[in-house]
Amino acid sequence: MVENELDPILALLDRTTRVAVLTGSGISAESGIPTFRGEHGLWKQFRAEELATPEAFERDPGLVWEWYDWRRGIIGRAEPNDGHRTIAAWQDTFSSFSLITQNIDGLHQRAGSRGPIELHGNIWKMRCLREGTVTECRDVPLPSLPPRCPTCGAMLRPHVVWFGEALDQDVLEGAFHRAAACDLMFVVGTSALVHPAASLPLAAAQAGAKIVEVNPDPTPLSRSADFVLRGKAGQTLPLLQRKIIDKWKS
Ligand SMILES: [Zn+2]
Repeated sequence: MVENELDPILALLDRTTRVAVLTGSGISAESGIPTFRGEHGLWKQFRAEELATPEAFERDPGLVWEWYDWRRGIIGRAEPNDGHRTIAAWQDTFSSFSLITQNIDGLHQRAGSRGPIELHGNIWKMRCLREGTVTECRDVPLPSLPPRCPTCGAMLRPHVVWFGEALDQDVLEGAFHRAAACDLMFVVGTSALVHPAASLPLAAAQAGAKIVEVNPDPTPLSRSADFVLRGKAGQTLPLLQRKIIDKWKS
């Protein structure tokens, strides 16, 4: 990426621009979190697609929890990067700002983001199978598997969306509402392949927003994006932030 590629984006941004950001696994990969899918996602002899399902949990909740416990260990040791930190700073840079993420690792919150819309849930949260109540627990490793609800003793499940499960309707509606209400949407580190998350940039564009893709690799979104920044989030976003601040100071 060359620096003057940022100029047209910079020209669109001022304090009153309504900005939305959609993030995916790419920004977490920059923090060393593997995608847990495909060849590199193998744990023991299992693939993510064989473990992150309601059927797998019904068959063997202990095994599924053992895998989540292992993943929580990896995620717990990872640190947010400058991409996460820049996105957190944008809450106070723009008068209207929304963050929507496909990631379940909670790195945005650790970087300082307040209340991101988490499309696929959060690996640090658990849900009671009997009551549906959601609690947060950051213990690594978990003291006993599978964990039990502190209130009623029923089994807990990870508060994440599994393969074959629908996204939470309220969460999804909130995300589409934010997408339709922005002037500029940054799509960061996501291949924009998995629906319904992939429809968010389209919803934003239909409502008149400009789309900026931030990704080291081409994606299906690249052709329809208004601007493409080929680079890592941890490098591209801080550079843009510095230029925004310089421009507003002058
Ligand atoms: Zn309970």
